[in-house]
Amino acid sequence: MKLNDLNKKTATFQNTEPMPVLFLGHGNPMNAIEENEFVQGWRSIGKTLPRPNAILCISAHWETRGTYVTAMEKPRTIHDFGGFPQQLFEVNYPAPGSPELAKETQQLIRKTDVQLYEKWGLDHGAWSVIMNLFPKADVPVIELSLDQTQPPNYHYELAKELASLRRKGVLIIGSGNMVHNLRMVAWDHFHTDNYSYDWALEASSKMKQYLLDGNHQNLINFKSQGKAFDLAIPTPEHYLPLLYTLALKEDHEQVSLFNDKAVAGSLTMTSVKIEQA
Ligand code: ZN
Repeated sequence: MKLNDLNKKTATFQNTEPMPVLFLGHGNPMNAIEENEFVQGWRSIGKTLPRPNAILCISAHWETRGTYVTAMEKPRTIHDFGGFPQQLFEVNYPAPGSPELAKETQQLIRKTDVQLYEKWGLDHGAWSVIMNLFPKADVPVIELSLDQTQPPNYHYELAKELASLRRKGVLIIGSGNMVHNLRMVAWDHFHTDNYSYDWALEASSKMKQYLLDGNHQNLINFKSQGKAFDLAIPTPEHYLPLLYTLALKEDHEQVSLFNDKAVAGSLTMTSVKIEQA
């Protein structure tokens, strides 16, 4: 590598003001090709963001044993779902990867040995939302996997090690859903505005209260928050990306919510933006 190239690479992650951090409720993969209020919400948020040097996404749809980070130049668009129209399988989001950011992330994390990984790509938890924030696919994207063998507090602590990336222009996005119980979806109410079961409403209200109060401990200890939480989080993968986002909040930063609605009784699209006040 010539010195010139080296300078160019280093400049990619030069110091910036802290980038905001997002948690995006992604919901139905069809959001990638439909026009609705959630898509509009993502688009609006996209317009408020400084242009990032790169994006690091923690998606509900990449669970592994151990922690991996995607390290290829050109991540493929993964259609990790079934039973949807052909049009959705034809969506391609050709954002470049960033082997440099993957290596930097690997070096930053001390809690575990992070492995660089070439075989994943962008799953729909990443591309179905990021394509609405950055439709030109011109911001490099990498993904960090969720180690399914680890407890909630581990994820929260690991996320803290990513903090310095915010000052290198890296937009960190957790993508999941706070309330996500697919077994209990009210299919006949899929298009009823803000339709929520009582338990989903209860869990969602408490989650938001804890979020806005900065009570991260109760959110980390979601398994001891009672029946409504148990129903809202039957499996942790859609909830854990929220803990990554919260862990990156600095003192005095402001937290705001958007797309704050329920869908089909047992899902919420509630999304979070953390930024300098
Ligand atoms: Zn999902």
